Amino acid sequence: MASTRSPFTEITEREHALASADLKTVGWKPALSASQARQDAIAGLIASTVSSSIACKEGCWYCCYLKVEVRAEEVFQIVEVVRTKFRPTQQQRLQDQAAENAKTLQGLSREQQLTANLKCPLLEDGKCSVYAVRPARCRTLHAKDAAGCKKGWEEPDNLSIPHTLVPALLYTAEAHLQGSRLAFAEAGFDSRVYELNAALAMALKDSTAKRRYEKHKRAFVELPCKA
Ligand code: SF4
Repeated sequence: MASTRSPFTEITEREHALASADLKTVGWKPALSASQARQDAIAGLIASTVSSSIACKEGCWYCCYLKVEVRAEEVFQIVEVVRTKFRPTQQQRLQDQAAENAKTLQGLSREQQLTANLKCPLLEDGKCSVYAVRPARCRTLHAKDAAGCKKGWEEPDNLSIPHTLVPALLYTAEAHLQGSRLAFAEAGFDSRVYELNAALAMALKDSTAKRRYEKHKRAFVELPCKA
């Protein structure tokens, strides 16, 4: 008999099961990396079936001016790369820029935050400096035409600019994300959603945030979040 479950549910349940198994056997860091690899693999598979090709490529950065929502484990994964690969001056610059962006965003309404057009502090020379460990949200956006992304960046307040994001890629990425997030939540980890700049600045400044996370407590106690 054919399954009555939607593809969304099937993807969510599959990712939930796989991430839960990894969390039990290998711990949160490899579990996160494996989940990211699966997200990229699904995206690659779907992209190969889309009639017109995906315009996203290295050096295209318009979407790196959008507000990014992250989970705590994604932030600690980025911080680990920053601590091992970035020079001390680069680390300080990143922390300062993230804190400055976070301060700017705090003074804005939710709607204003969506059109603030702030450069992600991890964007360097037009490229993501932590590409391999970029957050799931950054892996979600795939456009068929960069012209719309460019126009959106040039006119951030103009919400009527049509985008060319691929619906199937958005749909599967969201389903994947829900499965992964649920697995981490069930394993006892902080599954709140934070804003990238604020969480990154805090994680770089305060090493106790990661310890709290690993003890299954709220990672960023002072930051606003979505449950
Ligand atoms: S983390 Fe990387 S991909 Fe995501 S917005 Fe920042 S620079 Fe862009």
